[in-house]
Amino acid sequence: MSQPVDSVLLEDKTWERVAEATGGAAAPCFQCGVCTAICPWGLVKDETVSIRKMVRKAQLGLPSWSDEVWLCTTCQWCEARCPRGVDITRVILGLRRLAWQEREIPHGLPSLLWDVYFDGNTWGRPPSQRSLWTRGLEIKEFSPADDVLFYVGCTPAYDRRSQKVARALASVLETAGVKFGTLGDREPCCGDAVRSVGHEEYLAELIDANARLFEEAGVATLVAISPHCYDMFANRYPNLSGSFRPLHYTQYLLELIEEGRLKFENELPLKVTYHDACYLGRRNSLYEEPRRILQAIPGLELVEMERSREDGLCCGGGGGRMWLETAAGERFGDLRVKEALETGAEVLVTSCPHCISCLEDSLSVLGASGLRVRDLVEVVHSALGAQSQAATSDVASGRS
Ligand code: SF4
Ligand code: SF4
Repeated sequence: MSQPVDSVLLEDKTWERVAEATGGAAAPCFQCGVCTAICPWGLVKDETVSIRKMVRKAQLGLPSWSDEVWLCTTCQWCEARCPRGVDITRVILGLRRLAWQEREIPHGLPSLLWDVYFDGNTWGRPPSQRSLWTRGLEIKEFSPADDVLFYVGCTPAYDRRSQKVARALASVLETAGVKFGTLGDREPCCGDAVRSVGHEEYLAELIDANARLFEEAGVATLVAISPHCYDMFANRYPNLSGSFRPLHYTQYLLELIEEGRLKFENELPLKVTYHDACYLGRRNSLYEEPRRILQAIPGLELVEMERSREDGLCCGGGGGRMWLETAAGERFGDLRVKEALETGAEVLVTSCPHCISCLEDSLSVLGASGLRVRDLVEVVHSALGAQSQAATSDVASGRS
């Protein structure tokens, strides 16, 4: 019996929508299942999260509204191992985009987008409070004559814990004699949260408006605290190519060390291990820069965890997971803290506000004494000691 013409057309339309939203990224998949085997959800969940099946359904033009679509942290571990080079996160973000169109979205995500739309930040706080992190410091407004624009980002601007990281970086830049400024209360959200939850249409608007703002402000070199902001500016702003130079702060600090502008004169006797943030490591291949900074500090010993660099375990905070509930016992951060403890390190160092938040949560849940979580620039700040102005967190003594 032949199929009714209407149903064939409907199927074709759905297939086209899925193929368009996912950019056809699922096509090369040959269903080996490596992605399902490597995905870190397999380490914490009792039931298998089948990434392979999700990719297969996208290949067949079947949209998926299941909770599994929202689990992905976009850590790209699966992509690093996929033998066919499938852009798996593109498939998943495409499925999320369709879910927005069908209003099949988890509770909490619409308000995240309204926060970015109305307040310009992911914290739902007034833009007029964006510079509160600078209290007691003299941070000037950016001018084109400056060496760099210090792009702070939403979390370091508003979150009390991350504000310490912003203050530490400002202090270190000052010590190195860098001429820098910020956009103050005009600083916009980079759009990473919007991208990671799959709202492509709003993201395109945001990127256009931000690119215009940076151009009008005369920004050439931008230094970001968060690997997520860095990734956005480096890879998602097609209008800002040419002379625009986005850097993650670890890249910039290494440049300052190599130019002799940042010198460590005192010993910092500390055993540390480094957690690769997915958006710095797997996504942008910045594995060596943070390690070379740590190795430049006299007295500091760097030890590696079992899973590091290309095989680094995700903290669980990317891909919009910061705004979604994760059940107790299913946090990747718990596993990461245990791995750090096994190295005997005193400090678990990372360079991403999401990682700091997830790892510190896990540390407090596990009650692991003898280990602290610090951002890399806080370690640098401590190593510079009295040379820098702002008191932030004292890594050597463990005081926060
Ligand atoms: S690893 Fe790649 S080829 Fe294998 S099932 Fe997953 S997406 Fe398909
Ligand atoms: S990107 Fe990470 S969390 Fe997402 S499916 Fe791949 S391995 Fe799993």
